[in-house]
Amino acid sequence: MKTIDDISFAGKRALIRVDYNVPLNEKYEVTDTTRIDATLATVNKILKDGGSAILMSHLGRPKGGPEEKYSLKHLLPYLNELFGTEVKFAVDCIGESAVTLAAGLKPGEILLLENLRFYKEEEKGDVGFAEKLSKLGDIYVNDAFGTAHRAHASTAVIAQFFPGRKMFGYIMGNEIRNISKVMNYPRKPFTAIIGGAKVSGKIQIIRNLLDKVDNLVIGGGMMFTFIKAMGGKIGNSLVEDDFLQLARDTMEEARKKGVNLLIPVDAVIADSFSNEAQKDVTAAGEIPDGWLGLDIGSRTIAQFRDIILGSKTILWNGPMGVFEIPSFETGTREIALMVAEATQNGAFSLIGGGDSVAAINKYKLESKVSYVSTGGGAMLEYLEGIELPGIEAINR
Ligand code: AMP
Repeated sequence: MKTIDDISFAGKRALIRVDYNVPLNEKYEVTDTTRIDATLATVNKILKDGGSAILMSHLGRPKGGPEEKYSLKHLLPYLNELFGTEVKFAVDCIGESAVTLAAGLKPGEILLLENLRFYKEEEKGDVGFAEKLSKLGDIYVNDAFGTAHRAHASTAVIAQFFPGRKMFGYIMGNEIRNISKVMNYPRKPFTAIIGGAKVSGKIQIIRNLLDKVDNLVIGGGMMFTFIKAMGGKIGNSLVEDDFLQLARDTMEEARKKGVNLLIPVDAVIADSFSNEAQKDVTAAGEIPDGWLGLDIGSRTIAQFRDIILGSKTILWNGPMGVFEIPSFETGTREIALMVAEATQNGAFSLIGGGDSVAAINKYKLESKVSYVSTGGGAMLEYLEGIELPGIEAINR
C-alpha cells in the first residue's frame, strides 16, 4: 500500500482529495468538524516536509452549477483556525485562476478549491475534467474514504494522470489497514455480528463473510426474515418476503461451509412501535399476531456472549434492535459492551456502518474497541467484497 509516509513532499504541490462534506447551520458555520479534523495529520505531514497542499472536496448535492449554500468558502474560517495559517481559496476548481493560484503556492501554504460538484463532470467521472484538475498538483493523495466507492473524477479517474505519483493519505491508509486486517488476515475465531433493519441491504455482506468467518451472529429487524424462512411465527415484525428463499439458501450455505450461524432464539416484543408500548418476551418464532419483535431477548444475549467473548476478531455492523427507543436498546447495548470486553481481553474489534457507530458512540465505547470506521457506504461495499474504485485507482 503506497502512503504519504513513503516520500518527501519537499518542494511539491500535493493535490489532496479530502472529504469535507460537513454539515453547516443557517449561518454557514460548520456544526460537526470531525471530517475536517481527521485530515490534519495528512496535511501537516505534507507541509512539514516543505510541500504545499491543495485541498479538493465536494459538499452536499448541488444541481450541477454553483450554489451559495454549497460553497466550500464557508469552511475557510474554521480551516484558518485549524491549520493556523490563512488558507487560500480558488472560486473555480479548474481554469486559469485555479492554475495560477496553485502554481504560486509556496512551501507550507494551503489552497482550497471550490466545490467539485459544481461541475456535473465530477460525478460523471469525466476524464477531461479530471485531467484539468490534475494540472494543479505534482502528486495526487486520496484521503477521502467516504467517497472511495465512487468512480468520480477526483476520487478515481484523476489517478491515471499521476503514474508513480499517487498515494493514500493517513485516513485512507488507516481504514484500509484496519478493514483488511479483519477481512483478509483475521485471527481465529472470527465472529461477524450483523444487524440492522433489512436483509436486502446486508445479504451481499453476509454471503461474502461466509467464506471468512467462524461465527455469524444475526440480529436486528432482519432476523425475522430468517425466522420466518425457518417456519417461525413472527407476528407483525419487519419481514422481506421476497428474501425468504435467499435466507434459506444462506442458511444452507453456512451449513456447508461449516460456519456457525446464530439466529436469535428469543425476542422482546411490543404491541406498537413506541417507547410506551406494552412489552413481553417470547421465543423468536412464536410471536403472536398484532405484536412485533423490536429487540433480541435475554436468552439470545447470553448465547451471543459466549461466542463474542471467545472470539479473537470481531466485526460488528448494524444494531440488534430499535436501539433509538430506550425500551428496545438492551440487546444493542449489551452487544456493544461485550465487544468492548472482548477487546479488553485481546480481541481485535472493528465497528462499521452508520448505526453501529452511532450505538458505540451512544454508550461511549469508542475508545474501548479497536477501530471505528468512518466510511458508511464505502465500508459496506468493502465488506461486500467489492474493490473500491478509489482504492483500485491508486493500487493499479
Ligand atoms: P441498518 O441501517 O440497515 O443498519 O438499520 C438500522 C435500523 O434498523 C435502526 O434504525 C434500527 O432501529 C432498525 N432496527 C433494528 N432492529 C429492528 C427491528 N427489530 N424492527 C425494526 N427495525 C429495527
